[in-house]
Amino acid sequence: MTGFVFNEKPIQIERGDGSFVYDDSGTEYLDMGASYACVPLGHSHPAVHEAVTEQFEKLTYVQASYPNAERTALYELLAETAPGDLDNTWLCNSGTEANEAALKFARSATGNSKIVATMQGFHGRTMGALATTWKDKYKKPYEPLIGDVEFVPYDNAEALDEAVDEDTAAFIVEPVQGEGGINPASHDYLQAAREITEDAGAALVFDEVQTGMGRTGSLWACEQAGVVPDMLTSAKGLGNGFPVGATLVRDWVAENYGSHASTFSGGPVISAAAGATVSTMVEEEIPAHAGEVGDYLVNELEATLGEEVRDVRGEGLMIGVEVKRGANRYLKNLAMKHQILALPAGRTVIRLLPPLTITESEADQVVDALEDLLTE
Ligand SMILES: *Cc1c(COP(=O)(O)O)cnc(C)c1O
Repeated sequence: MTGFVFNEKPIQIERGDGSFVYDDSGTEYLDMGASYACVPLGHSHPAVHEAVTEQFEKLTYVQASYPNAERTALYELLAETAPGDLDNTWLCNSGTEANEAALKFARSATGNSKIVATMQGFHGRTMGALATTWKDKYKKPYEPLIGDVEFVPYDNAEALDEAVDEDTAAFIVEPVQGEGGINPASHDYLQAAREITEDAGAALVFDEVQTGMGRTGSLWACEQAGVVPDMLTSAKGLGNGFPVGATLVRDWVAENYGSHASTFSGGPVISAAAGATVSTMVEEEIPAHAGEVGDYLVNELEATLGEEVRDVRGEGLMIGVEVKRGANRYLKNLAMKHQILALPAGRTVIRLLPPLTITESEADQVVDALEDLLTE
């Protein structure tokens, strides 16, 4: 019997601690991908462990129509730490569900159907979110998807202004594109998106599934652009490894969200995990640390590899190194020769999304390893 869908790598991970994971023979790997940004506080974080085990012993599960202290505390914590008046929280289990909900809420609140999304964007793989994802490879086998999605070039305010009209329900966009190759948008663009959607009466949805939870140097990436969207979606790092997603929603959308639900929404154990993750992140000022180490790492990569690569870019600890040939051979050698796990973003970009708690000396290890592989 076998699983399918995933192409399994030849390393069996058994244990994790901070920035490191260990395979079944005890070999240590520096986890520069944090399993797709899912453990921003590092592996096996004690605060998350404690919150989850405590809750597990009290109550594993109760459905969300019964109030529960852990869930209520998480609603409050998210509303408090989110920018502006994103005061209403919908909890779910993944990034695609958080976006799926945002698209539904936007349609219901505006009465419109058209969705505007960006070229190279990625918003998930359920039918609705998938329709707003750019890559044909992910979509073609499953068509027809929902219609009425218009794609615009990323980071181009003029094209956005042309596409968003009085029939538009939402514009969905990542403040830094992740899957699409680590492409940061200019703050001007995000500010223009705010104006354009507001003028048209459309909802602005920031997909912060990858950029959020401190990754870019602030808890949410949109804070740096000074823009408050109508909805902000989160998942990946939100529960430091536990499956939880959230759609944070402004009142005008929440008041007309339609009818939506999910059985496992905001279970107490998952809520405890997310609550411990967000509060540790805020109390220990981890986003600021991510910003500092991120700047350090980008500078070191540029200084060391500038000649060998096409580009080094990113924000905070969301970093892309665009190489001149395929990224996969470097990723394989990083793992096998240097015991460093990283990720691709498209064909030519090495993507680094480490735990936000990494140190400069851990960051140095990646620079040294890439120097070795790229100057071979
Ligand atoms: C990973 C990702 C998603 C999808 O999240 P899942 O939890 O895999 O469904 C959506 N948007 C962005 C920006 C992502 O990086």
